[in-house]
Amino acid sequence: MAPPKRDFGSEARWWTSLPGGAVECGLCPRRCRVSDGEYGFCRARVNRGGRFFSEVWGRPAAVHIDPIEKKPFNWYMPGSRVFSIGTFGCNLGCVFCQNHELSRAEAGASATLEEASPAAVVSSAIAAGCPAIAFTYNEPTVFAEYAIEMAKLARQRGLATLLVSNGYISDEAAAEFYPLISAANIDIKGDDAFYRRMCGGELSPVLAACRRLLSHGSHLEVTNLVLPGENDDPGQVALWLEVLAAELGVEVPLHFSASFAAYHYYGRPTPRATLERMAGQAAARGFKRVALGNVF
Ligand code: SF4
Repeated sequence: MAPPKRDFGSEARWWTSLPGGAVECGLCPRRCRVSDGEYGFCRARVNRGGRFFSEVWGRPAAVHIDPIEKKPFNWYMPGSRVFSIGTFGCNLGCVFCQNHELSRAEAGASATLEEASPAAVVSSAIAAGCPAIAFTYNEPTVFAEYAIEMAKLARQRGLATLLVSNGYISDEAAAEFYPLISAANIDIKGDDAFYRRMCGGELSPVLAACRRLLSHGSHLEVTNLVLPGENDDPGQVALWLEVLAAELGVEVPLHFSASFAAYHYYGRPTPRATLERMAGQAAARGFKRVALGNVF
């Protein structure tokens, strides 16, 4: 059953009360402490009177039908067109965000959007003839409550469920969300130093999320957005590939994707030769399925 409608969304999961009307969010490793009237870092969750609400529940900011290869998935349901949905908000602060209009939208932006219940979304996907629904565009972790309801209904009605995510999620939330996911593409951005310097996060929760997806039997692909001069050093890449091989195995498909200047990042576009060199390094390390992305 859908939670009751409110003018600021639906009550959130995974939070605890703190003294003085504040709350602590347990949805992602950031574990924001949020005072009454304030938003969490992701701008999707808000404290109203000492209770915590998801402002993005039932309020999609983007809905499209896309080729599954655009997510990207190259080794799952190839050739399919998938019903893709996202909201506002993100729980990482990547300075190079390629999608900041959605991820860093103003707090409160969701309140202006039309509502769409999980049942309505799943019915729309089926009516459109899509075999899968994808949680994508912004970071699905921040709309986990909404995605979980959509995923349950989608699976009941025979649809596959796809997750395109940064994997920055708490273990308690992933324990409920990830068993409902058929296939995931997780963005692994670089080594831990890169996460801390460029994203305001850390690598270890992302690897834990990937391991959990594999443990549930989900199909997993990994995408690495390549920023020239930031995460493409051959020695750094070799170490990063060792971590991936040890943590996830060399069967996991890898995508090396070109970046362009966006948000607070003003670097040059990634040369194709850089992507090809990194793909060659991955192949030499034993990774069997390697793809290039955003190359034209
Ligand atoms: S989900 Fe949002 S509010 Fe919760 S800890 Fe993460 S960034 Fe903060």
